Amino acid sequence: MSVAVWLCAVPTFCAAADVDEALQVHVTFTDEDRQSQTVDGRIVVTAKDGGILLLGRDGRLWNITPDKLQKQEATGKNFKPMSEDELAGELKQEFGEGFEVVTTRHYTICTNSGPAYARWCGALFERLMGAFRTHWKTRALDLHDPELPLVAIVFSDAEQFAKFATKDAGPAVANAKGYYSIRTNRMVLYDLTADGKSDRAVTPAAVNRKIAASPFNVATVVHEATHQIAFNCGMHTRYADNPLWLSEGMAMYFETPDLKSRNGWRTVGKVNAVRLNRFHDYARKRRKANALESLLSSNARFANAETAEDAYAESWALNYFLIKTRRKQYMDYLNRLSKKPALIWDEPESKVQAFRASFGDDLQTLDRRFLQYVGRLGKR
Ligand SMILES: [Zn+2]
Repeated sequence: MSVAVWLCAVPTFCAAADVDEALQVHVTFTDEDRQSQTVDGRIVVTAKDGGILLLGRDGRLWNITPDKLQKQEATGKNFKPMSEDELAGELKQEFGEGFEVVTTRHYTICTNSGPAYARWCGALFERLMGAFRTHWKTRALDLHDPELPLVAIVFSDAEQFAKFATKDAGPAVANAKGYYSIRTNRMVLYDLTADGKSDRAVTPAAVNRKIAASPFNVATVVHEATHQIAFNCGMHTRYADNPLWLSEGMAMYFETPDLKSRNGWRTVGKVNAVRLNRFHDYARKRRKANALESLLSSNARFANAETAEDAYAESWALNYFLIKTRRKQYMDYLNRLSKKPALIWDEPESKVQAFRASFGDDLQTLDRRFLQYVGRLGKR
């Protein structure tokens, strides 16, 4: 089961005022634990009522309502994300004894599971990022290096993960294999090789051997890492109204792990058998429902435990179909989404309209072709 953490518990903001995104500010406010906090960062949105959405130098987003805002000062400097060393120091302080930090070109991984698994994760994420950017490399979409170091927290076992996850993201993610938080911009994971029975894997080959025994678990890790990359390389904007059928379908399109190749990722866009089979089972019920439009117009089907798995499966199938058969229109749609501002929520009708603007008005024909195409893929 893939888990998306859409921590968008943010009140609806009014239309945003113009803000200078380049400048760093020094903000003191009351946080959710009623503690006074001072954060250096950049203002992403200023609401009409004076509230702000602040991006901290560590990548965390702070939604600060006017009643919580104590002081806001200009620093006269440009916004500068934390360096790797600074971030490593902060993470060690936050997580305390037993945690160390492993860095790769784009990732800062804080772990208490020993460096071998963290290095293995770092190498996997770097390969995924390379594959992701190569896959979408086109003039139609402006993907770039992440502005901030990408943080992953890797706990040594499921129990520690569950405890942290419950507090950080709520009980719904406690049983997951990992999650990406839009709010903190971090991935939170645990060592999948820790089974409590045998010794921890200490070489990349040993990690691979153990991981290969649970491919569905590692698919979740790849899925969450894909979200983090998409939100940091210019494909999606954090706290924008991104349709889940697209962001989830995209993550599932990448989630088939490739543990064999050293620098490539040959399984991007491979048929995802788990999702495909689920979709075939759902397709029989689907005839009655106005499925495509309900998927495009709202995220409700993902939020309901009874319909979520089918919505995931349908999203995988729809993205697969659109990428394979309507790539140009799909890129146009991605480009449209990448320009969405934070904290502006669309009406259901305008979501469908945005889809039509890229893929054409005739949704009925598109839906028929979609079902024919997926039908031909058969069961796996
Ligand atoms: Zn997801």
